[in-house]
Amino acid sequence: PTYAALSQNTPKILLATYFDSVEQHAELLKTLPVAGLHIDLVRAPQQAESFLHNFPEDKILSAGLVDGRNIWRCNISAALQTLNTLRETLGDRLWVAPSCSLLHVPVDLAQESTLNKQTQLDKVVKSWLAFATQKLAEVATLARGVTLGKEAIAPQLAQANAALESRVYSPKVHDKAVRNRVSALTPQDAQRHSPFPERIAQQQARFNLPAFPTTTIGSFPQTADIRAARADYKQGRLNAAEYGAEMRAEIQRAVRKQEALGLDVLVHGEAERNDMVEYFGEQLQGFAFTEYGWVQSYGSRCVKPPIIYGDISRPLPMTVEWAQYAQSITDKPMKGMLTGPITILQWSFVRNDIPRADTALQIALAIRDEVHDLEQAGIAIIQIDEAAMREGLPLKKSDWPFYLDWSVRAFRVCSSGVKDDTQIHTHMCYSEFNDILPAIAAMDADVITIETSRSDMELLEAFREFHYPNDIGPGVYDIHSPRVPSTEEMLRLMRKALAVIPANRLWINPDCGLKTRGWPEVEAALQNMVAVARQLRSSMAA
Ligand code: GLN
Ligand code: ZN
Repeated sequence: PTYAALSQNTPKILLATYFDSVEQHAELLKTLPVAGLHIDLVRAPQQAESFLHNFPEDKILSAGLVDGRNIWRCNISAALQTLNTLRETLGDRLWVAPSCSLLHVPVDLAQESTLNKQTQLDKVVKSWLAFATQKLAEVATLARGVTLGKEAIAPQLAQANAALESRVYSPKVHDKAVRNRVSALTPQDAQRHSPFPERIAQQQARFNLPAFPTTTIGSFPQTADIRAARADYKQGRLNAAEYGAEMRAEIQRAVRKQEALGLDVLVHGEAERNDMVEYFGEQLQGFAFTEYGWVQSYGSRCVKPPIIYGDISRPLPMTVEWAQYAQSITDKPMKGMLTGPITILQWSFVRNDIPRADTALQIALAIRDEVHDLEQAGIAIIQIDEAAMREGLPLKKSDWPFYLDWSVRAFRVCSSGVKDDTQIHTHMCYSEFNDILPAIAAMDADVITIETSRSDMELLEAFREFHYPNDIGPGVYDIHSPRVPSTEEMLRLMRKALAVIPANRLWINPDCGLKTRGWPEVEAALQNMVAVARQLRSSMAA
């Protein structure tokens, strides 16, 4: 009815679909009163056939053949072959287009320099890429190729083939050792030694935490001074020793503040991190970075996602030095802070030559090495953030089990190499995950901290039905706002949580990291938060 109404008084409508197949609706789509249909033939090449069959004489089919969601060059020769087949049936009713909007890719590869030492994008890797401007040229090339024949686009075809070939055989892409490690993974590698009840008993004996332990999610305010220090270091105005001293001073400030507030499990504050994915990508083999490759994240926020182009490994420890320093200046347990494999995968441009699940396992092994080194360095609590777990869910529910299976496995691979009395935390934002609670439980983190305050703990309703087995810290205040929450309101949220989660498994923490906040409001809010814990403890004792 919507399209019937729309079609009355409008210009011609092109109904554009993308990111997955719509073939199960092909018959309906063909009968809609629209002038054309666009389908994504990058994500779902198999759906072309359903549309070719009896395609209406009065409609055009727009074939999305240039990947609008990723930064790889188009395989012109393969796309042309598809186009030629489509044209046999559709004739002039065929259009060619990117698979989706170009919102998700950077603007122009030509801006990226391969000369500037600091920021250079590897010349070879660059030759494999296409940003929005280049993608438009690819669309034009394909259109010329299908109408005028291969010969008309001979130079472009040769270039595309050469780039493709160089990528397929490049030693930058393939690392045998990494491949072997992934294929040698056993079920034991994704399994802690003992089940949770035994682990938590050992952990409790080790840390002796009070009831309702308090902690934060990792980052503390990224002040102008911190950002200036990072920029100065990057541009060579600070040497490594000077930069290290500044960061250690910052860590010390954060530790002292947390001690003064009376928090139970401390963090080092993440001052040295520009971004929770970029920081790790920069230290991993197989990642490349752009200088101007900004894309919209949400609203007016932009990010510069790393590009994963090759097999991933971790040449050196990435966080150990900072964590170890932080632990050395306090008697409280210091929580090591890592980003998990799915979040790194989700927030990067990923390879299209191997399955995402394989890349996830490669990242998981790199993180597993880091977890191991942190443990060896005396860090007994390690948080592995999986902020993007939920947003990685496929569009179609029928594809969820497969995704959840490999993503949970990747998390377990990175987190299971530790001793029973090392405590693994994970953190998730946007946790509308009522429908995937069994998968969240299957991750088997000892403690999970989640976002719940904005929904007034509504999420916890799901915990009535599904008994989440491990420890849980439902965020008691929204870090997206500078407002300082009162003790009463956080207490009210904790009482709601207590109605569905046993007291001995509850932690108290904010919703997410505090890097976008200022210190005055952070200190005031955390002070109230610690007061909540104290009140709950004394009411339990009473
Ligand atoms: N540890 C990160 C931080 O505190 C987590 C951020 C996130 O979940 N988005 O900033
Ligand atoms: Zn978060």
